[in-house]
Amino acid sequence: MAQTIREALGVPIHVNSGCRCEKHNAKVGGVKGSFHTKGKAADLSCSLGAQIMFETAQKLKAEGKLPDLEYCILYRTKNFVHIDCGKKRKNYWEVRP
Ligand SMILES: [Zn+2]
Repeated sequence: MAQTIREALGVPIHVNSGCRCEKHNAKVGGVKGSFHTKGKAADLSCSLGAQIMFETAQKLKAEGKLPDLEYCILYRTKNFVHIDCGKKRKNYWEVRP
């Protein structure tokens, strides 16, 4: 999924956080049982900023190019997006301050 977003953006993507062990997940304040601990989530940033990554993910999802994406969160202040393929949810998109 990150590669698909990267190709659409045309710039490198930095993986801020990928797979985490439970201990590290707890240390960084991750939700218990986070999809990061199952290898199903990544937090991404790039030089263009998180907003454009979020919008690009929405566009790609609408085009059917991110079939496995189940959840994407834009963290405005921290300037990164979380993506995961953990489970089906009502909404794919969420924006946090
Ligand atoms: Zn995350």
